[in-house]
This record gives sequence, structure tokens and C-alpha cells, in this order.
Amino acid sequence: MESVPVLVVGGGPVGLALAGDLGWRGVRCLLVERSDGSIYQPRQDLVGIRTMEFCRRWGLVGAVEASPYPRDVPQDNVYVTSLVGYELGRERFPSMGKQKPPDASPQRRERCPQNMFDPILRAFAASHPSVELRYRTQLLGFRQKADHVIAQVEDLERGGRYEIGARYLAGCDGARSLVRGELGIGMSGKAALTHTTNVIFRCPDLTSLHDKGEAYRFIILGPEGTWATIVAINGRDQWRFSIIRGPKERELTVEEIRAAIRRAVGIDFDYEILTVMPWVRRELTAEHYRQGNGFILGDAAHAMSPTGGFGMNTGMGDAVDLSWKLAAVLEGWGDRALLDSFEIERRPVGLRNVTAASRNLQRMLSPEPGPSLLDHGPEGVLTRQRIGREFSELMRHEWFTLGVHLGYRYEDSPNCWPDGTSAPADDPSVYVPTARPGHRAPHAWLNDGRSILDLFGSSFTLLGFGAGALDVAPILQAARERNVPMRFEPLDEPHLLGLYQQRLVLVRPDGHVAWRNDRAPADPTALVDCIRGALAAPGRVASPRTAAASG
Ligand SMILES: Cc1cc2nc3c(=O)[nH]c(=O)nc-3n(C[C@H](O)[C@H](O)[C@H](O)COP(=O)(O)OP(=O)(O)OC[C@H]3O[C@@H](n4cnc5c(N)ncnc54)[C@H](O)[C@@H]3O)c2cc1C
Repeated sequence: MESVPVLVVGGGPVGLALAGDLGWRGVRCLLVERSDGSIYQPRQDLVGIRTMEFCRRWGLVGAVEASPYPRDVPQDNVYVTSLVGYELGRERFPSMGKQKPPDASPQRRERCPQNMFDPILRAFAASHPSVELRYRTQLLGFRQKADHVIAQVEDLERGGRYEIGARYLAGCDGARSLVRGELGIGMSGKAALTHTTNVIFRCPDLTSLHDKGEAYRFIILGPEGTWATIVAINGRDQWRFSIIRGPKERELTVEEIRAAIRRAVGIDFDYEILTVMPWVRRELTAEHYRQGNGFILGDAAHAMSPTGGFGMNTGMGDAVDLSWKLAAVLEGWGDRALLDSFEIERRPVGLRNVTAASRNLQRMLSPEPGPSLLDHGPEGVLTRQRIGREFSELMRHEWFTLGVHLGYRYEDSPNCWPDGTSAPADDPSVYVPTARPGHRAPHAWLNDGRSILDLFGSSFTLLGFGAGALDVAPILQAARERNVPMRFEPLDEPHLLGLYQQRLVLVRPDGHVAWRNDRAPADPTALVDCIRGALAAPGRVASPRTAAASG
């Protein structure tokens, strides 16, 4: 029987990122994906700022920027009664070619829809000799053994079933995850928020039919409230039309879809329907992210409303968190308990982002304008002014989400040594840079033009700030004794110490701070055992089950 250290199930963005990051770390893995990799209908199109930081580490920024999504389309969100109707409000954003990164990051968020982004991740994963991608191969089920799993797969191309042995199995198989079901993991939350229908239609000259100009997204409100959106999904000739609150008991007919497109645009026009995808918007988080040697991540672990564009980006964070831990354990320097912290760290982020996405949805669906919205007289003017003002203010919560993307923290992690400082507020809109243990190590530019983030990733990085002797030898020695890969980076640039606040800061392979202090700890071996999973940090528990029991 064929045997691999890691079997990744599912070749969506999260499975591809996990395989790619494992390959980048030199870990052997096999990814099985039941489709041939082609995208029926792109879902994700916002590549968040943290995901772009991962892309920077993986050397993929150039590929994302060179993707076919045009760099000159303004990214405005426009609120209208129809494309030829009244404009109620607008949040202006420059085109991707003109957007600058915020101070907090060397990258900016990008617009790169799934049918352009997945191939970039696929090529990245495939570029590593330790990664094999096997398309048209479906997982049928698996058996857990004490220290491995045996998976049954089917070759959908040639026919035939066979088994694969794997030390670990990572279910990146989407919202209907078979892996999650086989692991016996339930989901909690709300199984259905809306029944929505997405339609991709082609119309090269849609923009010339109305007076609202080029934009990324139109949100369409009627007397009953927000009912549809139109998104420039490829920025040129294809549009994603979403009918947000459809009937739950049946799919819409083509006539109903055409009538809805007519209403949203406001006139008859020529277009071609390319694909129709009914889907259910959910608010669900898995009760566990690990069972034995099986893990779930991405949509398999959390299903959220796309309002905000958090779904895939949350899954990317899962992939990067799990990847270095699997590498650590497989390379022998990580304790097996390190793998438990995947759930302890990532499940709270899943819950948080699922909740934030639902709040965005509630805001988007909250207006109740009534019939005067379309009134041509003075009453209509007042209604439109009021709704436009209120809606524009509300929707800013969805457009400005730096806190969601950069501000997540691993508060209960047994592998991050608390330093006694209190956490900044976890505000979805606001990111407060901090090098407090458990947080993403904050970005700053180095004098040589690199970001400090460029120093992190392949191993632990011990940052030493300021001139003069730094007390690093005991930590490096303890790391050597435990075979923990660790590099020392002395940085004599005063602005960095101001940001990181302590002279020694230990950053994990995923870019999160594990520990900081002005001098080496009294027991450096305890610190190294903590970061490699052999010892829980003070006041923390090592296993999610223990955490649940004690909580
Ligand atoms: C309209 C819409 C817009 C969205 N926009 C955004 C956005 O802008 N930004 C964002 O971050 N997120 C967005 N999302 C969410 C995002 O699309 C998902 O979070 C993301 O696709 C999840 O990736 P995944 O790899 O976990 O799962 P999926 O993309 O669902 O991939 C799972 C893969 O597993 C394969 N698979 C399943 N079962 C098996 C099996 N038994 N054997 C082998 N293979 C299997 C499937 O074929 C599939 O390829 C949006 C979602 C929707 C619906």
C-alpha cells in the first residue's frame, strides 16, 4: 500500500495552500481532489491582506498581480435601486493598480477571483518535489489506526479503488466535508441564513448601459430592502448576479432569473447566462478541528456568509497554522501535543470570523425603505437620502476589516508564553499592531527595504533589537539541544524596538509571536519545550478537550 506522511483531501484554495506550504517546508504530501481542478463558478475574489502576506512568503505576489483581473477597474461599492435607477450611496475605492498597502503591512488586499487564484496556488504546490497533486481522485472513507489512517480512494478517471496509508489526514474538502463526518465532528451555529442564487452572465457592454460608471459591486435595494448584488467578477465582461433571499424549497426558473436581472439592471438588454449556482448561506463552526490523526480546515471547519470575504482567508490561516506543526512533528522536533494547539488557536478565529461575517450580512439586509424609495416626488428624495446615508455608514463595517484580517490572536495557545500585558480590543475594523505573544508579529520596514515579515517562516526567528550584547545564547543553545530550528536576527534599528517593545522576540514559523522579553528566561529549555508543544505555557492547557473540561 502506498504511504505518505500527510494526505490532503480537497484541492480548493485551502487544500492547495496546505500542500503548498508543506512542500515549501520540504514535507512530503499527497493531495487528492475529485474534480479536474476546473472552477464551475468562482466564489472567492477577495484575497485578504494576511493571505497576501503568505503569498509574499511563498513568492506568489507577482503572479497574483499579473492575474487577468484588470488593474484599472475602480473597486467602488455602489448602492442603487437599479443600475439605471437612483444611486443611494457609494464607497469609493481605487483600482487595484492604484491601491497602496496600509502602514500595517507590506501588502495590500487583492482582487483575484478563484478561477485565477486557485491555478496560482496549484502551480505553487506542484512546484515542490515533495508534493503530489492527484486530480479526479475521490476520498471514499478512511479508518483511524493508533498512529496513522488508511484512506480508501477512487480513481474517477480510470476507475478502480485503492488504499493510501497516511500518518496524518487533513480534510480540506469543503462545507459538506466527508472527512468531518467520518471523524464524527459536529457543527454548531445556524444551518441556513439565506437561500441565494448566483448567476454568472456575460455582457461586455453592461457599463455603457447605465450612468453609474465602472465599479466592483452594485448592491440593489428595493422597497423591501436589499435583494440583489451585481459584482464585476472578472472585471471585464462577466458579472456575478446574486439573488439574496430566494425560496428555500426550490430552485429558481430561468424565467424568474431573467426577470430578476431585468429588475436589477432596470432595462431590457442582451446578455448570456453562463452558470447558475443555488447555495445556502450558513453560520457554522465545527465543534472540533482534530480527531486522532485527522484534521479539518477551511470550509470543512467553518462555513460563513461571504459578506466581508473572510471564508477562504480564514482557511488560509488554518493551513499555515497546521502546516508548520505537522512539519515539526514529522521532523521529530515537535511534540505530538503541538498538533492539539491547532484547534485551540484556530477554532476561536473561526468562531470570530463566522460571527463577523453574519454581522455584515445583518447590516446588509437591515434597510426597510418601504414604497417611497421609488417615489419620484419629495418624499422619495427624503427616503433615498436617509437610506443612502444610513446604509453607507453601516456598510463601512464590511469594507474596512483590517482588524479581522490582521488582528486575530492566539490568546489561549499553550505554545505562546504570556507576558502579562493585556490584549488590545479585538475590533473587526481596527488593527492595533502589537508584538504581544499570540499575535501576528507586526510589520515594519527594515533599512534595507525588506519587511521584517520577510525574516519569518522557514524556522523560528529570534529577533534581537538594539545595539550591544543580547542575551540570546541560552535560548539558541536550548533550541539546538531539542533540534528546534531557530535563527537569530540582530536588528539595530530603533524604530523596531519601539514597535516590538522588548529586546528579544521569538517569532514562530507561522509569523506569530511565541515569547518576548528583554533577557533570556531563567529556564530556556522550558521555553523551547513550550514552543515545540512538549510543555504548556504557564496558565494554559495543552489539549482542547482539557480546555473544554476545565472551562
Ligand atoms: C459567493 C461567494 C463569494 C465568496 N467570496 C469570498 C471572498 O471574496 N474571499 C474569501 O476569503 N472567501 C470567499 N468565499 C468563501 C470561499 O469561497 C470559501 O471559503 C473557500 O472556497 C473555501 O475553500 P476550501 O478549500 O476550504 O473549500 P472548497 O473551495 O469548497 O474546496 C473543497 C474541495 O474539496 C473537494 N472535495 C470534496 N470532497 C472530496 C472528496 N471526498 N474527495 C476528494 N476531493 C473532495 C472539492 O471538489 C473541492 O475542490 C465566498 C463564497 C461564496 C459562496
